[in-house]
Amino acid sequence: MARHAQEFNCTECSFFNYPMLSDKMNGNFTVICGNCGHEHYRTIKMGVITGDRHNYAADHGDTIHVPKSATSKEKRKMGKILQMRQMETAGLSK
Ligand SMILES: [Zn+2]
Repeated sequence: MARHAQEFNCTECSFFNYPMLSDKMNGNFTVICGNCGHEHYRTIKMGVITGDRHNYAADHGDTIHVPKSATSKEKRKMGKILQMRQMETAGLSK
């Protein structure tokens, strides 16, 4: 089971979160910011956090607690392949 870092920008505190997710993860999850603790309701596809929100869903799915050590105020450098993969799954690449 492959795991890879995901980039997730918290809209509350603007910190970047870098949780390690399995590429087997699919569905609705609650991602908790490792810096401010804000809950984000996001849909995850193949371990990639998409921009899809499910704020009004009855079930917010499993919770992902991002560790404080996996957050930073500054954007971290991510591998090119990881970035492309994230964009592809989010439907941002052509
Ligand atoms: Zn935050």
